[in-house]
Amino acid sequence: MQSRLSGACERRVVKSLITLKPFVHSPKEKKPKHCSTCGSLATLEAYFDVGDSVTMIEKYCDVCSKKIPYGT
Ligand SMILES: [Zn+2]
Repeated sequence: MQSRLSGACERRVVKSLITLKPFVHSPKEKKPKHCSTCGSLATLEAYFDVGDSVTMIEKYCDVCSKKIPYGT
């Protein structure tokens, strides 16, 4: 039996990028935040509007912030 993947991305939530802000690690923060995509040290926070007045924040590194698959 063959399984066929459509290749479409799974998108349960429509996210739209609101803004990107530089992310600074606070000295009080013991655990460094990591990029949600590749796991490197995060340098940017991405704010997404996910509907219902909910804002979601994800951390990204420099590299991944350039290829955030939402918005622009
Ligand atoms: Zn990354």
